[in-house]
Amino acid sequence: MSAKIAAKMAALAAQIEEHNHRYYALAAPTVSDQEYDRLLAQLQALETAHPQLRRPDSPTLRVGGAPTSQFPTHRHERPMLSLDNSYSRQDLLEFDRRVREALPGEVVEYIAELKIDGVALSLHYENSLLVRAVTRGDGVQGDEITANARTIRSIPLRLRQPGVRAEVRGEVYMAAGDFAVLNRGREEEGEALLANPRNATAGSLKLQDPRLVAGRRLRFFAYWLHHPEAAATQRGQLEALERWGLPVNPEGTRCATIEEVFAFCDQCEARRERLPYEIDGVVVKVDSLDQQRRLGHTAKSPRSAIAYKFRAAQARTRLKDIALQVGRTGTLTPVALLDPVSLAGSTVQRATLHNEDEIRRRDLRKGDMVILEKGGDVIPKVVGVVLEERPSWTKPFEFPQHCPACQSPLVRDPEEAATRCENPACPAQLKRRLEHFAGRGALDIEGLGPAVVDQLVDRSLVRDVGDLYDLDLETLAGLERLAEKSARNLLDGLERSLQRPFDRLLFGLGIRHVGATVALALARHFRTLDALARATAEELEAVPDIGPTIARSASAFFANPQNQPLLAKLRRAGLQLALPEEAETAPANFFTGKTAVLTGALMHHTREQTAAYIQRLGGRVATSVSKKTDFVVAGESAGSKLDKARQLGVLVLTEENFIAKLAEAGLVVAPDQP
Ligand code: NAD
Repeated sequence: MSAKIAAKMAALAAQIEEHNHRYYALAAPTVSDQEYDRLLAQLQALETAHPQLRRPDSPTLRVGGAPTSQFPTHRHERPMLSLDNSYSRQDLLEFDRRVREALPGEVVEYIAELKIDGVALSLHYENSLLVRAVTRGDGVQGDEITANARTIRSIPLRLRQPGVRAEVRGEVYMAAGDFAVLNRGREEEGEALLANPRNATAGSLKLQDPRLVAGRRLRFFAYWLHHPEAAATQRGQLEALERWGLPVNPEGTRCATIEEVFAFCDQCEARRERLPYEIDGVVVKVDSLDQQRRLGHTAKSPRSAIAYKFRAAQARTRLKDIALQVGRTGTLTPVALLDPVSLAGSTVQRATLHNEDEIRRRDLRKGDMVILEKGGDVIPKVVGVVLEERPSWTKPFEFPQHCPACQSPLVRDPEEAATRCENPACPAQLKRRLEHFAGRGALDIEGLGPAVVDQLVDRSLVRDVGDLYDLDLETLAGLERLAEKSARNLLDGLERSLQRPFDRLLFGLGIRHVGATVALALARHFRTLDALARATAEELEAVPDIGPTIARSASAFFANPQNQPLLAKLRRAGLQLALPEEAETAPANFFTGKTAVLTGALMHHTREQTAAYIQRLGGRVATSVSKKTDFVVAGESAGSKLDKARQLGVLVLTEENFIAKLAEAGLVVAPDQP
């Protein structure tokens, strides 16, 4: 019996660890918080009933996830704990009872604050200057992400009060509007949508290039202060934080009784949809810091605080059918077509089912009564089936073997649990690619909506995005429901798209795994399409935030002979194939403000790349050597330019010296094999 229970506990623990990894390390959870908490509560209940079977590494004893290897690790001076979670009033009543029993005869007051759904961050101020920002990590040590935190505008780099040494804790979050914009961009690019602002925030903070983090428009609310003299109560601490210039959420309220806390929770739950940021509950804290200290904490959470979490909004409806959508990279996404149902303020008729495994795992069948959930998140999910209401005629769903658009055989991608159509000429993929290319985050081509795209593809007028630039008024005016004025508009839109910056064109090409952020990173690093197209997978991987999957996908795209005609058409059309030269704001280094000349055969990097590296570090590249030249990079068989440099006494660097100088300036590039 006990072996059976131990096995069950081990299985639960393994499942929870897997979800922890997806949530904390990958920022891509596959189950709702409520479902995760249910698993954790099950394990906790088994451990309480069989304490001898609790393993010392049980996930019930641990906070968060391990720090990553991408950032320096910093040990917290005081552990960054989690909070006890509850979904019921009963739990809150018990919390209140425990607190009052531990503080007999004392007056206890609470502060109830919104539980902002983001990522906890600890900020260290010394002499009122921000010196360090650390994520919670496993509660004992976290990632030091100071450069990323500095890009968050609401985090003051200097406090308004002079001479303060303190640790401030709070939540980094993404406003609902900014999240919607980010996801719209991803939708246009056919990428998986981020489940909620919390995951988007966690993913953003993990980026290696702070300039990309700055583009994510993250925000911050402070809710905790460690400073010996600032105040004697939580409320006083919040006031001190505010005085010092930190943003404090204005909704926090003092409650004399747990009934007042209930009222606050109800009020917040009702207003939840109208707040400009997401909350997943209310945090209740004992107001007096002295009482907080005496209550102490368990291994995982303080005894003086509890999180009351809102339940995700749910609805039931009938699954009419499962449709398959072909994305622009050929991935098939099953979509639930539902009887319309109202859920958290909107009417839902469709919900994503992710992939084949997801359908099989839930045994979803056409005709089933299903449960939908919308946990404050934007995308409704099918979270379960009401088996008692399953009609007798239903059959298990069979994933088709052929693409619904072009009938080519489908291929299962074992790495990504995805099924794909690998026919590059699949009309459905081409349509999605054109829509993506014309999308707002890409070339933003006015007048190129789905109706026009459908006709262009169905009539074989366009075979790739490059063909768009050969369209003329006569051809366009011949399309159905496209008046001459609209045709002209579209041509104007195409003309204007020629001026969109290089990174948006790159994004518009729809290379697998190259989203807007990655496109910008690649464009900034390589500067020109030529340099990028020549880069090897290793050189691509050396760019911050570019992992092996992206590197492989981008280099395969440019190496593919089938894509060469497309690239030639883009060139001919006059699109922007390079970023304009701009002074990059790299910190001062050897290259800052210097003029370089390249000469001879460079073995490790192309000329364009070498020039891009110099520009990136704040230098410029000229073509001829003069007194104004600061240094020359001389490759094999350098001739007259090298002679001239020597005559003028200009510094000469071999390629190896140059790579070493780059590294000193903080740019580590892998030398190619000669
Ligand atoms: P938590 O998010 O439930 O609560 C603690 C956190 O609340 C703090 O660290 C802080 O970041 C935040 N917070 C927001 N506003 C606050 C305020 N005003 N005062 C204090 N703290 C505030 O706990 P956790 O330890 O971060 O994560 C555990 C939760 O994460 C679980 O309850 C679960 O729902 C979720 N989770 C989900 C999955 C999944 O796969 N879906 C996996 C792991 C964890």
